[in-house]
Amino acid sequence: MYKHTTDGLRTLLNIPDNYQIFFLSSATEIWERIIQNCVEHTSFHCVNGSFSKRFYEFSGELGKKAFKEEAAFGKGFYPEKFEIPAETEAICLTQNETSSGVSMPVADINKIREKNKEALLFVDAVSSLPYPEFDFTKIDSTFFSVQKCFGLPAGLGVWILNDRVIEKAKQLEAKKVLTGTYHTISSILSKAKDNQTPETPNVWNIFLLGKVIEDMNKKGIATIRKETEVKADMLYNYIKDSNNFSFGVEDPAHRSKTTIVANTAIPAPEVNKKLEQFDLAVGSGYSSYKEKQIRIANFPAYSVEKTEELVNALKKTIG
Ligand SMILES: *Cc1c(COP(=O)(O)O)cnc(C)c1O
Repeated sequence: MYKHTTDGLRTLLNIPDNYQIFFLSSATEIWERIIQNCVEHTSFHCVNGSFSKRFYEFSGELGKKAFKEEAAFGKGFYPEKFEIPAETEAICLTQNETSSGVSMPVADINKIREKNKEALLFVDAVSSLPYPEFDFTKIDSTFFSVQKCFGLPAGLGVWILNDRVIEKAKQLEAKKVLTGTYHTISSILSKAKDNQTPETPNVWNIFLLGKVIEDMNKKGIATIRKETEVKADMLYNYIKDSNNFSFGVEDPAHRSKTTIVANTAIPAPEVNKKLEQFDLAVGSGYSSYKEKQIRIANFPAYSVEKTEELVNALKKTIG
């Protein structure tokens, strides 16, 4: 099952041979393992919402020095506008900030790499993969959780990491830095070589992920990406013309294709009350934006037809 799932994922995302695929409990766990295994002193984070902020905080909580470049909620980053300290060992980027619907274009991630070749580059793509088409020669690692775009029950994090990451983890272990116990990179790697895990894993979800990936490969990643864009365009076009909704993210280049966020004049719970008659619902805003924004998960599980249905229902009841 392990092999079937990871082979399928390699095909789906075009992952090169010098990358390993590990199964952990969640993306939150992967944040912690990255800092523990790959940062002796310093990490750098782009922070613009709840998820990227939490990743940043983990570094400090684990006793490391964490630098950050911060942007306001709903805003993204411009690679030419900030410098990453030379001493940084790990650059931590959140490709899709799920709380605000801001995404980082892959071209910008590549620019950050061009300017910073030494540090390891980690990309949280938890709520966007398999949509973003990463150039794996420009990043060292990415990861996701199965409950977002893969539409599965929560409880499985998937970590994709290259030989540079493994090398760094080995260096830290050699220096006797505390890197953890059963889920150190070397412990997971020693088992992954035989398609096994150090603990009893979420077998059911590894199996299901293998099946979902099988379906995705049948459909083809190009079609999945194209449909994601078509659906995102439908939703954003509706928001543009709506009297009630407005864009949560100002810069069109930073608007997420997988997490569509809009400001709403009518409180979010009332939007859902109006949608009830159609047996449809949208997500509420995140945390303090609970009532002021809506979030629409534009994940592969939703068809173009279903998205059309939602747009029509919104047009009819809200305008
Ligand atoms: C959901 C999410 C996480 C956390 O995932 P868990 O599986 O709950 O640990 C991390 N980062 C982003 C961007 C997310 O959307």
